[in-house]
Amino acid sequence: MAEVLVYVDHVDGAVRKPTLELLTLARRIGEPVAVHLGAGAEAAAATLAEYGAVKVLAADAPEFADYLVAPKVDALQAAYDAVSPAAVLLPSSPEGKEIAARLAVRVGSGIITDAVDVEAGDEGPVATQSVFAAAFTTKSRVTKGAPVITVKPNSAAPEAAPAAGTVEQLAVTIGEKSTGTKVVSRTPRESTGRPELTEAAIVVSGGRGLGGGENFSIVEELADSLGAAVGASRAAVDAGWYPHTHQVGQTGKSVSPQLYIAAGISGAIQHRAGMQTSKTIVAVNKDAEAPIFDLVDYGVVGDLFQVVPQLTEEVKSRKG
Ligand SMILES: Cc1cc2nc3c(=O)[nH]c(=O)nc-3n(C[C@H](O)[C@H](O)[C@H](O)COP(=O)(O)OP(=O)(O)OC[C@H]3O[C@@H](n4cnc5c(N)ncnc54)[C@H](O)[C@@H]3O)c2cc1C
Repeated sequence: MAEVLVYVDHVDGAVRKPTLELLTLARRIGEPVAVHLGAGAEAAAATLAEYGAVKVLAADAPEFADYLVAPKVDALQAAYDAVSPAAVLLPSSPEGKEIAARLAVRVGSGIITDAVDVEAGDEGPVATQSVFAAAFTTKSRVTKGAPVITVKPNSAAPEAAPAAGTVEQLAVTIGEKSTGTKVVSRTPRESTGRPELTEAAIVVSGGRGLGGGENFSIVEELADSLGAAVGASRAAVDAGWYPHTHQVGQTGKSVSPQLYIAAGISGAIQHRAGMQTSKTIVAVNKDAEAPIFDLVDYGVVGDLFQVVPQLTEEVKSRKG
């Protein structure tokens, strides 16, 4: 059976959920071979094996952390050359997409970014994308080489399928040109304790209807009761009510959670572009004519200052 390379997104060997989703999708095309760069491969191997990795190709070098993505591309290319895979899957993060693009150029393959599904096809793997502000769903396959595909977080439910997950060391030669840009300092972002917006299974977003930055606490409280990430419309971000890193939409982040709750957001096309592929959409808006209601699975016409705190209380009481 053909092998499929899966690029592992991890923090010191703690594998992040999007990688488990990639392993699940990779099994539809062939046998997943995980590529783990940096420290912690042995720790990661158990999780990777649980989700179907037949092998874990591991490499660690200071260059992976000390320079921008090029050394990681060298390593992934070494894995590619060693395995001759049927496809390469990476998470659709900014870093994942940059690595994917560079790898595709180097190996002469076609690339598909921001896929929301991947399946086997007669003429090679087929990727589904949601395009033009999610107005269309397309299916495509590359016509050249083994496809390099980046997949959006939350596109598949991770399913365990235990495999061997044997760790093998990957020999990597880091090219001279790959160390052209050195990372000179890192400042960790202050942790909110909430999940990362693009990976969260639930997102609660607030818009101009909140009327002021101080009222975002209403959104945060609902988010915390659900273990959700907090998003914001551009109007709320432009008003300085919430940091830009939380903006959802065409010029912000794309999210595709299981549940998206929009409070005081009208549903402009540019906002929809970043959340329309969410599985279940709920909106609270006092205007029954707001365009967001064209999109929702559940809509509440009402004042968010009354509805959202009640919802938070209800969630808390059910958690007991
Ligand atoms: C090139 C371009 C890129 C853009 N990119 C983005 C983007 O990435 N993301 C994005 O979000 N926008 C983006 N926009 C802006 C977008 O067009 C909208 O202006 C923006 O999304 C509106 O934000 P909003 O829904 O919070 O505000 P509004 O459109 O003002 O809607 C506020 C809503 O709150 C409701 N409301 C008010 N008070 C209450 C209350 N007490 N209870 C309940 N509901 C209430 C109102 O009925 C209204 O529907 C972009 C625009 C352009 C031109």
